[in-house]
Amino acid sequence: VSEPVASAHDIAQQNRDYTMFSWSVQGGPLPPVMTGGKGSHFYDGDGHSWLDFSSQLINLNIGHQHPRMLEAIKAQVDTMCFAGPSFATEPRGKLGQKLAEVTGLAKTFFTLGGSEANENAIKIARLVTGRDKIITRYRSYHGATMGSMTASGDPRRWPVEPGVPGVVRVFDPYCYRCPFGKIPDSCGRECVSHIEEVIQMEGPDSIAAILVEGITGSNGLLVPPDDYYPKLRALCDKYGILLITDEVMSGFGRTGKWLATQHYGIKPDIVTCAKGLTSGYMPLGACIVSQPIADYFDTHMLWGGLTYSGHPVCCAAAVENLAIYEDEGLFENALELGAYLGQRLEAMKARHACVGDVRYKGLFSVLELVRDKATKEPLAPFNGTSPEMGQLAAYLRSKHVYAYSRFNFLWVCPPLVITKEELDAGLDVYGEALALVDQAIAG
Ligand code: PLP
Repeated sequence: VSEPVASAHDIAQQNRDYTMFSWSVQGGPLPPVMTGGKGSHFYDGDGHSWLDFSSQLINLNIGHQHPRMLEAIKAQVDTMCFAGPSFATEPRGKLGQKLAEVTGLAKTFFTLGGSEANENAIKIARLVTGRDKIITRYRSYHGATMGSMTASGDPRRWPVEPGVPGVVRVFDPYCYRCPFGKIPDSCGRECVSHIEEVIQMEGPDSIAAILVEGITGSNGLLVPPDDYYPKLRALCDKYGILLITDEVMSGFGRTGKWLATQHYGIKPDIVTCAKGLTSGYMPLGACIVSQPIADYFDTHMLWGGLTYSGHPVCCAAAVENLAIYEDEGLFENALELGAYLGQRLEAMKARHACVGDVRYKGLFSVLELVRDKATKEPLAPFNGTSPEMGQLAAYLRSKHVYAYSRFNFLWVCPPLVITKEELDAGLDVYGEALALVDQAIAG
């Protein structure tokens, strides 16, 4: 006899009473309940269907409950749930080979998520170069474990400071609010040249790596100018510094390619990824290294390990996920619908007083909201919120559109399986919400 199904309220209460929720004060309202999903939609505890315009945490790239993925995971569970990390298994080998093929790199060390992938990338860069310092950018997020959190420039690092030693931060390619007061058409790419000055001030021989997000995600989706990466690559080569790109959010089809840096024609030395690697169906991260780094470890110890490194069920899920991307043409969909999304975002910018800037690549996009287009005064302060941002989020929730917003940013990052009709439906609701904000700031 099966237990009666718990009510949504009981589920929420039990979660609240016995578990802790990320990035939140624990005593707030009861958490929302999720009971299932299909494609671009998920269902809440009250039976409402939500349009997922955020792919959960910008990870559920193949959408909810993809049937092929469910079968692949079940098949691996039936075959073998677990093997210790010193054993070779079929899914692990297959996935490693596929990752080498799609990234142009050589070998993968598997982790459980993005934070751990970055921890290991930093460790590997230090082991290989014999240098200590890591350059990262202010507007970045690399994870919540101690090293990755310190590497992040995001204010989420503040409570753990001083964190781990050796992180040096530089400014971002944020053209809408250029930290050097320039505009992209006439600037000297100070966003790269100032890094060279920082390198010189810090001592070039002390810097192991520059760690950057492929395209910055949760700090405002900053799409760099086309020559940013070639210049950054050249800078790294000049000083023997490794280039690590964190593609945890921007990788695996989010921008319509395997890696965001593939839009810019450069190859990093180390790539970290997670999220879209399994589309979130199983927890998996990866730290993928170049041939010279792989060769180094042929004769040197890799000082690192995790009980669940190369977990067979997670690797099998990833193998299937990558096959689904290819078989269903999901990157092509991301590029095609992404071009259309870009047009609609530009139209919103033209129509709405509160939209200061829009940035997009594939189905990775953001609206940056302002009180005044001329002064660019943000609709909410850095690391803060405002009544208008609250109103916007509440409106989207009332229409059951699940969206990610933070500070004065509002993202559009749906699953790559989304249809044009679904995209239009969500964007129409965004338009209504932005009209309300327009009215509010017109005051
Ligand atoms: N790096 C980036 C760019 C991310 O966006 C995230 C998570 O949002 C992480 C790293 C951390 O990944 P995880 O939460 O899987 O540890």
